Amino acid sequence: MTDTSRNRVKSRSKSQSTTASKAASPIAPATQQAPGHLAHQDCEPCDSLPAAFARQLRYDLNRNERRPQELYQALALSVKEQLLDDWCASRSQDALYQRKQVAYLSLEFLMGRSLGNALLNLDLTDECREMLQGYAVALETLQQQEHDAGLGNGGLGRLAACFMDSCASLGLAVTGYGIRYEYGMFAQQIVDGYQQEQPDRWLRDGNPWEVRASQHNVTVPFFGHVQSHVDRDGRRHRAWVDTQDVLAVAYDMPVPGYRNGRVNTLRLWKAEATDEFDLAEFNQGDYTEAVAAKNLAEQITMVLYPNDSSENGKELRLRQQYFLSSASLQDLLTTWVANKGLDFSEFAKFHVLQLNDTHPAIAVPELMRLLIDEYQLEWQAAWEIVSHCMAYTNHTLLPEALERWPVRMFAQMLPRILEIIYEINARYLELVAHHWPGDVSRLRQMSIIEEGDEPHIRMAYLAIVASFSVNGVAALHSRLLTTGLFRDFYELWPHKFNNRTNGVTPRRWLAHCNPRLAALISSRLGQDWLSDLRCLTALNAFTSDKPFIAAWREVKQANKQALAELVAQRCQVNFDPSMMFDVQVKRIHEYKRQLLNIMHVIHLYQRIVSGDTRGMQPRCVLIGGKAAPGYAMAKLVIKLANNVAHMVNEDPRVSPWLRFAFLPDYNVSAMEVICPGTDLSEQISTAGKEASGTGNMKFMMNGALTIGTLDGANIEMLEEVGEDNFFLFGLNALAVEELKAHYCPAQYIASSAALGGVMTLLKSGHFNLLEPGIFDPIIAAIESPQDPWMLAADFETYRLAQLQAAKAYQDPLRWTAMSIRNTAVSGRFSSDVTIAGYRDHIWGAQ
Ligand SMILES: *Cc1c(COP(=O)(O)O)cnc(C)c1O
Repeated sequence: MTDTSRNRVKSRSKSQSTTASKAASPIAPATQQAPGHLAHQDCEPCDSLPAAFARQLRYDLNRNERRPQELYQALALSVKEQLLDDWCASRSQDALYQRKQVAYLSLEFLMGRSLGNALLNLDLTDECREMLQGYAVALETLQQQEHDAGLGNGGLGRLAACFMDSCASLGLAVTGYGIRYEYGMFAQQIVDGYQQEQPDRWLRDGNPWEVRASQHNVTVPFFGHVQSHVDRDGRRHRAWVDTQDVLAVAYDMPVPGYRNGRVNTLRLWKAEATDEFDLAEFNQGDYTEAVAAKNLAEQITMVLYPNDSSENGKELRLRQQYFLSSASLQDLLTTWVANKGLDFSEFAKFHVLQLNDTHPAIAVPELMRLLIDEYQLEWQAAWEIVSHCMAYTNHTLLPEALERWPVRMFAQMLPRILEIIYEINARYLELVAHHWPGDVSRLRQMSIIEEGDEPHIRMAYLAIVASFSVNGVAALHSRLLTTGLFRDFYELWPHKFNNRTNGVTPRRWLAHCNPRLAALISSRLGQDWLSDLRCLTALNAFTSDKPFIAAWREVKQANKQALAELVAQRCQVNFDPSMMFDVQVKRIHEYKRQLLNIMHVIHLYQRIVSGDTRGMQPRCVLIGGKAAPGYAMAKLVIKLANNVAHMVNEDPRVSPWLRFAFLPDYNVSAMEVICPGTDLSEQISTAGKEASGTGNMKFMMNGALTIGTLDGANIEMLEEVGEDNFFLFGLNALAVEELKAHYCPAQYIASSAALGGVMTLLKSGHFNLLEPGIFDPIIAAIESPQDPWMLAADFETYRLAQLQAAKAYQDPLRWTAMSIRNTAVSGRFSSDVTIAGYRDHIWGAQ
């Protein structure tokens, strides 16, 4: 036996002892109490918020040199204390297994800040404000001290965060499982118009919300190889040996429901080296090797991959995926064993694993491995469990975003997992062969393994095969999945496929981020809308109520003032709140077509400079968002936006009519200022490419009007609000598909004076006088018959829709009525509605 394999045995026995001690953990419905356990009813009632805050400050060594950051830390710790009792009670209840529990597995949780949300949900905002008066500091000042938990790229990660809030608010037993990245989404700076990425050290001042819960530690194996052996009963076993084990340490963050006493957990795993690992190296005298090995282990959770809607196949990323999946599953299984013993026959009755895209799809073979290798279940029994627990959410139709991993990488890093995937595939292909007898090409097409010089594992197929539910995130997207990408699977298993249109939480995205509008709404409707956003339809009764309209406009003006201050501070551009605020913030991606927006800005600029301002509505255009560091075209679009902004803002002829800024470092906290202060929301993706969008919903909730294409959830928003209250333009998804074969941008450029003018100005180098040729790739993309985003095709209808929006804005009564109608129907896009759908149609959880 080698040193490393002994090391492996050691870690096994350790994880077993962890399991044993769990049986008596305080989570168990304790008949036997663990040492140190104090029954809840024996506790002193916890201190009130002011008492807890005073105590935090009293027992602070540095109380004589207190800055806002220290005050924030003390406040956050005091608020966390307020929810500890409910947090414990929620956990004790779950340990009874009286109802289904959901594990939401996601590589991303874009949580943003926690303080304001916690105060709101615990109904402590007013008390806190009052308390802080005694300390001569504003709540807002302290809130701004909190670093965003930016553990996600964009929509997918923010969806996970909104879902966490809704699950807790609906009282569901849902645990979020994710990774505690040391560095979250990079901070974006703009230097000479170019994006520069800065590391996001969000933990530099500590994280007062988290609790390190090392009693839940598990070890995750990597590398090694697989051996066969036969036990005393003649049963064959596969053993994964000589592995390099990494310790997964649990960090728990509380997720309080909205005023309902429920507190769920977001459990984030941090990778650390195991003691055994260090010791083995140390005994060989390689002290420095041991330390280096430690770094290797800890690298796994060091940084979030900054790619949105595109996979990049890096080995470390696969390690993150397996690390999260294995740690989370071991956690679920050890908790089950501690409370229910080794009988897994009811495991699937009490668990659902919701996979947020294919990123955690490796949980499928990992759960098989744990049940078979660690708990000695037979294949069929294990598969029954796995295939009744797993549910998969697809987030994209873009082929470049579909995850595929080289088989070679699995063979080396996860050899036992690869064996299991092969076995799953073999059994599944038998079913395919049975369904389509003799259809060999179908077998190749549907196989989990993509053959070729470099064979790959298709993670989406693995997820579909194992899941009892496969859902898309908006009606159009779910339909396109069944008719396109997953058509074969839909033929085989139609019952698996369903739609759950995304949503956003109205607590953060209306009540917390827009207190002025929230107060106005509550003054007429009361507070029920906070837990049932459909109540907002009652606002439709106020669309011609003069005092209400005036109040609505005042709120919008104040929010625009706040947004203007953000823009002034970050972009040194002066936005005038009397002008229309036209905003597009989201990840920079070709399919989202920020370029189309910039082209329209160039068109307006040309009109103004040529003196054609008759009937023009003055507007301030804001674009913000991050580009993946390796995405050259997206980065060039940022550069173009900044160069155009420079020309627009420096020209005194233009500034009465048009101002244009690129907002650096778009994140959750920025969006909390942006969406309340926006008049016009840009949702202009190429139809059929944006799965759902959720930014669109945040703007709608806050009374912005949308200019948009028939894509993603825009379609459902339009359905709710009607064409009179939405600026629709562009090709639909079918037309985009049909045009592909004979798309001719030159034709559109020749037939539109506006588009022709924009192209001429771009090509003249007007926006890059000192940087010749830098925008050539952008010009070439627009003029290419292969342009998948079809900018030229949609430009003219976009321009006309913009004219309509401008005209509507010039009639304030009409615009405000439209704005109220948008908020009024936004209730359908509350993530509470979405989660109720998951609960009733997928999870079967109450
Ligand atoms: C809501 C949100 C997104 C998603 O925006 P889309 O317009 O749907 O792409 C991305 N990033 C942040 C910070 C968000 O708050």
